[in-house]
Amino acid sequence: MKELIDRLAQQQNLPDGELLALIRNTDSETERYLAQTADRVRRRWYGTDVYVRGLIEFTNICKNDCYYCGIRRSNTHADRYRLTEEEILRCCRAGWELGYRTFVLQGGEDPWYTDEKICNLVKRIKGEYPECAVTLSIGEKSRESYAAYREAGADRYLLRHETANENHYRQLHPEPLSCANRKRCLRDLKELGYQVGAGFMVGAPYQKPEYILEDLRFLQELQPDMIGIGPYITHADTPFRDMPSGGLHETLRLLSILRLLFPGALIPATTALGTIHPQGRELGMKAGANVVMPNLSPAAVRKKYELYENKICTGEEAAECRFCLERRMESVGYRVVVSRGDVKKQPV
Ligand code: SAH
Repeated sequence: MKELIDRLAQQQNLPDGELLALIRNTDSETERYLAQTADRVRRRWYGTDVYVRGLIEFTNICKNDCYYCGIRRSNTHADRYRLTEEEILRCCRAGWELGYRTFVLQGGEDPWYTDEKICNLVKRIKGEYPECAVTLSIGEKSRESYAAYREAGADRYLLRHETANENHYRQLHPEPLSCANRKRCLRDLKELGYQVGAGFMVGAPYQKPEYILEDLRFLQELQPDMIGIGPYITHADTPFRDMPSGGLHETLRLLSILRLLFPGALIPATTALGTIHPQGRELGMKAGANVVMPNLSPAAVRKKYELYENKICTGEEAAECRFCLERRMESVGYRVVVSRGDVKKQPV
């Protein structure tokens, strides 16, 4: 396996059979070597820098019914909320003071937030903080809508493709959602000049190694700037209540494989990873990640943005999250930097 990993690091690619063998491998010695190699590549591109994104979960109202997600439309137990423009701007102000230079506006697909409202919001944030990047993560929209947000000043867009396999996509999402439309969205976003993030859940129900291989091939074709992966985590108020959550090691190995396939990508150690293990995000860094996304949402609503159970950091204030993460990153030899944290096209 070591020879395989060395070759992956050199060529940023492997043939299907070998990549699949690596995806399937669960040997801890291989995992260690993968992480070491991925960290070396990460340091060549980004040194020990950790980019932070201030995450504002501004609405948990959603018109979609994804089987895995705790804020799906049919979950009548979810306590719904939506932040006002003023509340969102207050989050940004707090974030600016804490050194955030990227704000991520994430939410369910909430029709109350019309394109006009989103555009106004983006314009206001960019008006107050021209040095900051604004990232949207508000799901599937028409090309025209994406164009309007971009025109308003949005810099980046996060839209995990969830799975590149059509049958698997259907197992995770009811109609009218479709794999084809999800991919169309990502291609439109790229063409419109966004820095684009895609990704998927590790250990999602019905996932197979072959599907993960398809995910990796899709990502190679798309060439996103950001790749977000985290373990699937069960939520009791969804149809997948009896499905097991994804694992720590499975996620870490994939993080390393992604770093080797996409040396310059922005890869977060996600909150979901921190949820399944107390040192999940630190281990994620050591396995090749270079971004963390601490929560900037008002403490009062954090618990309500419950995509999955036992989500961490729902009791803290923004400042606590910021400094907690800084300490955590330092404890494993990395350093949180005050920067927009744009993607690099070449090593340092
Ligand atoms: N509505 C937006 C934002 C979705 S939430 C959109 O469609 O893009 C962000 C991500 O959380 C999703 O893309 C999904 O991959 C992840 N997620 C949802 N439910 C989850 C669960 N139960 N466990 C782990 N991750 C989950």
